[in-house]
Amino acid sequence: MPDHSYDFDLFVIGGGSGGVRAARIAAGHRAKVGLAEEYRMGGTCVIRGCVPKKFMVYASDYGHKLEEAKKYGWDVTVGAFDFPGFMANLHAEVDRLSGLYMSGQVNAGVEVFEERAEFVDAHTLKLTKSGRTITADKILIAVGGSPWRPSPEELPGVEHTITSDGIFQLTELPKHIVIAGGGYIACEFAHVFAGLGVETCLVYRGDTVLNGFDMDVRTTVHEGLKEAGVRVITNTVFESIEKTAHKGVPLHLKLTNGMSLDADVIMMAVGRRPHIHGLGLDAAGVKVGDRHEIVVDEYSKTNIDNIWAVGDVTRRAELTPVAIREGHAFADTEFGGNPRHFDHDTIPTAVFTQPEVGTVGLAEHEARKRYGAVVVYKTKFRPMKNMLNGKSERVFMKVIVRQNDQVVVGAHIVSPDAGEMIQMLGIAVKMGATKQQFDDTCAVHPTIAEEIVTLRTKSE
Ligand code: NDP
Repeated sequence: MPDHSYDFDLFVIGGGSGGVRAARIAAGHRAKVGLAEEYRMGGTCVIRGCVPKKFMVYASDYGHKLEEAKKYGWDVTVGAFDFPGFMANLHAEVDRLSGLYMSGQVNAGVEVFEERAEFVDAHTLKLTKSGRTITADKILIAVGGSPWRPSPEELPGVEHTITSDGIFQLTELPKHIVIAGGGYIACEFAHVFAGLGVETCLVYRGDTVLNGFDMDVRTTVHEGLKEAGVRVITNTVFESIEKTAHKGVPLHLKLTNGMSLDADVIMMAVGRRPHIHGLGLDAAGVKVGDRHEIVVDEYSKTNIDNIWAVGDVTRRAELTPVAIREGHAFADTEFGGNPRHFDHDTIPTAVFTQPEVGTVGLAEHEARKRYGAVVVYKTKFRPMKNMLNGKSERVFMKVIVRQNDQVVVGAHIVSPDAGEMIQMLGIAVKMGATKQQFDDTCAVHPTIAEEIVTLRTKSE
């Protein structure tokens, strides 16, 4: 039973994907809910992540499509790219979505505070703009993450760099960009900028990008970056950055391997960290792990009995749909009389490189480690569309099957629309489909996706 001596039954800190879902569902279960957001409603995904990034991917891809259209008979002259015009449209849409997030909360009966909330103790929060103190029976931390950068001691001149947040503040398209990192964000933006005609260089400390993904996917994406015109420099990191007017380019960068580079914009995409600084977690007694994450159990509960956390701040899987599912399960459990938790196994995901990566389940190295004997089916081919448009780009598909029962335990695609394909394939893999059931499914012809049900070449 809720304790009505508190101002709220539930107070949510953070108006991103996980927070708004939890707040709306809890309010629907008749809880009295408050939510504080210090910046703009929508969080990373809507304001400075998935949504504006995907618009940039589309913008970049239109350039390729216009070129390709010529071979399909269209008389196309590709003119200049109007970056300020495009960004104005992008920001207008982000504003619209942020407004919808706000009205969705208000309509659900959630009281929204447009200011920062910090813990005073496990049931008390201070709102930093108004100075108001509020109390809540239950508190949900959904503050997300933010881009991490080395300190100026670790990387002299780091203050001259931007992160993915800064990309959406650019007022003009750079001529030369250098991007540090080899993860989702670095690879996606390297393709975006190369596609927009920017001289793009990626500097990665390892030897093949997308660490943790299936090795065949990694090599395909790595080669794809180079084919897209990205200069990829591996096995090195930034040593220092200086502001200079060298050859009319404002930034001069030294790498630890002795090379140096010039750029208008340098972007650090070297990971994200939970956004917990100054939140007062000590005052509430909330436990934080070695990766700066809030430690939670499968029901998203922290070590403190009335405090939960969902989304990127817990670093279970830093993906929008995961935060949404975690927030929803929390609200149903605590306010809907329906105890349940989100299953973090077999999460489909996409990397919006060009072409995209779609992946679900285990990479080959993980499957071999977990199950020992596996059978791998894979193919690489030039899709039909590219036969006329002159593109040499190939599609890659791989399915990993557990040998003892023929269950598909991993599927990986590098292809146009791989994100769309893996959403559908994710259902089959989550259901535990076997390779035989894939094969029994009739192909849809002529498509790229049909190859997934006709895979024959195997290795063990
Ligand atoms: P990632 O953790 O994916 O990648 C970080 C990259 O930076 C890695 O290549 C890492 O190298 C490198 N790196 C880390 N520390 C250093 C350092 N000190 N010096 C040099 N390089 C370093 O982070 P991202 O920022 O790209 O993305 C964060 C998360 O956000 C992702 O993991 C994903 O969950 C989510 N995301 C999802 C997207 C999607 O769904 N499409 C899009 C964007 C983000 P190494 O590989 O050697 O560790």
